[in-house]
Parts: sequence; structure tokens; C-alpha cells
Amino acid sequence: MKKRVLITGAAGFLGSHLCDRFIKEGDFVIAMDNLITGDIKNIEHLFKHKNFEFYHHDVSKFVNVPGELDYILHFASPASPIDYLKIPIQTLKVGSLGTHNLLGLAKAKNARIMIASTSEVYGDPLVHPQTEEYYGNVNTIGPRGVYDEAKRFQESITMAYHRFHGVDVRIARIFNTYGPRMRLNDGRVIPAFMGQALRGEDLTVFGDGSQTRSFCYVEDEIEGFYKLLKSSYVYPVNIGNPNEISILDFAKEIIKLTGTKQKIIFKPLPTDDPLQRQPDITKAKEILNWEPKISRSEGMKKTFKYFKSLTSKELMKSEHKDFSKHIRK
Ligand code: UDP
Repeated sequence: MKKRVLITGAAGFLGSHLCDRFIKEGDFVIAMDNLITGDIKNIEHLFKHKNFEFYHHDVSKFVNVPGELDYILHFASPASPIDYLKIPIQTLKVGSLGTHNLLGLAKAKNARIMIASTSEVYGDPLVHPQTEEYYGNVNTIGPRGVYDEAKRFQESITMAYHRFHGVDVRIARIFNTYGPRMRLNDGRVIPAFMGQALRGEDLTVFGDGSQTRSFCYVEDEIEGFYKLLKSSYVYPVNIGNPNEISILDFAKEIIKLTGTKQKIIFKPLPTDDPLQRQPDITKAKEILNWEPKISRSEGMKKTFKYFKSLTSKELMKSEHKDFSKHIRK
């Protein structure tokens, strides 16, 4: 049966891949984005599709969608540390007010809602690898607090709507994900290194590079979301690739992959940058029968191909996206 699916953050990296996935399934996609960090280019190819509709809207304000809805996937949010610094209030609002609006919509439409939570709910984790039972170690007032606490509130309000109103909910805790359509200048490590290699700049490793991350290719991640949505499990599930690597070793991998002649340079570690991160995906394996299939070398090759396909003009734009027109003085 064809479903009607609302996807928020639809013009973003994950949102746009979700749009593609549901269109491929033959469902009807209602895409929503305020385009602060999203890019319409990511979904332009779907505009001609009869099962696709786009609303330019900020979900922190009341959300109105005509007709029935089966699923709501709330993927709208700035998602890189540079974004949180530039637009902290919007980051807080989309995770809190935005989630409240979408839960209200889910209740009114009797729709299932999946929210995009994050490994950031674990903060700088003292438990390794991170299981869903770990409550986290978050600095509420640090620069990342606006994202982390909005996402923690998001999980709380989602469970409250489930318990109090009986809304059918799913909570995906997303770990570092990469692939085509990542924003080149969002400051995240993969676009940063790829952009630097392609522009012939040195690769900037923050701190001594001993901090770890575990990167999941977008196709695997989307499959995890899809399986979680279709499951009957209402509690948080980690969706990520447990293959962990230090950022310094990762920079070396990128040098090899891209063939750049540049070197690694060290820059200060940002405040509250987590020292280690690796998902425990036992739950996803057991409940969803899901685990990532694409190796980092394969995924990185595909991702490099994407960045290489950008025009030299896009590559040279090392300036971060200008948010000033969205900020009320
Ligand atoms: N990082 C780095 N150089 C860069 C950008 C990021 O060494 O040019 C590091 C960053 O300090 C962090 C890791 O790479 O330890 C992953 O950063 P990202 O912003 O991609 O994601 P997050 O910190 O949210 O996991």
C-alpha cells in the first residue's frame, strides 16, 4: 500500500536520501525544508516526479499538511559543530519546538513518527562503545550543548507523546554518516579533508588526532532508518557503523585515497569535542536484523567521486554558508 510520508530536512544530506528511498518504494513524499542548511539541489531531480511535493517551511513554526499522513520523519536540524556555533537558537528551536509541532501533527493525523536523534546525546562518552542504556556525559552550556540538549529534549518529548498520547514513535540515534550530498563547507571532517585534498591544501587535524569516530556510509544508514521505521520498536536504537578509527589515521587514509601531496597540520581541538565514539549496534542487529555492509574504503571511494564531480567554483567556495539573512536581529 502506497504511503504518504512527510520528511522534514528534506533538502539536507540525510533527508534527501530518505526522499529518494521512499520515492523508490513507490510512496508519496511531502518534503519540507527551510533551506537554512539544506540545499534545494539535493532534491531538484525529484521535482518532476508525480509522487513528490515540496514545502519551503520552518518546522519550528506551526506545521500544516493537508490530507492524510502515514509516516513523519523529522530530519530537520543543523548537524555540524560549525552550524551550532553560527545558528544556536535555530538549532535549539528545530529540535524542541519543531519536534513538538511534528508530534502534534503525528497525533492529529494518527501517523507514525520517526525522529533523528544522535550519538551526541552521549556527549563525550565515558562508556565505550556506546549502548542505548548509557545516559551520556553532556556539557549543557558548551557550544555543542544547543544541539545535544535539543536532541535529548527531543527524545524526552517523543517518549512523553508516546506514553501520554499513544503516538507511535521511532527514535534513531544516528552516528557519524557520510556520502554524496554532504555539504562541502559544513566543517565536518570528511568534507573538510576531501575539500582540502581537492584544493591542494594541507589536511587540518584537530588536537593530536587521537580522538576516534566510526563512519557509516549513507546507503547503510538509510537502510537502518527504513528498517527501524517499519519495526515495532519504540525505544532508541543506535544506527551507525562500529568500525572505529582515530582522526589522525583517517587523515592518512584520505591522503592515500586522494593521492594528494599535501601534509597533515594540527589545529586546536574544539571545545567538548568527544574523545571517542563507537556505536554498540547489538540492538539494531537483533531487533532490525540490520548491520552496515559497505566498508569504509568502498564508501570513501564513492564519496570522493562525488566531491570530485563538484565544479571548481563550488570547491573554491571555502566560505561557510551565509546564515545572516535568517537571523532576526
Ligand atoms: N576534525 C578534524 N579536522 C577538521 C574537521 C574535524 O580533525 O578539519 C575532527 C573533529 O575535531 C572531530 C572529528 O574530526 O574530532 C569529527 O568531526 P565532525 O565535525 O565531522 O563530527 P563530530 O565531531 O560531530 O563527530
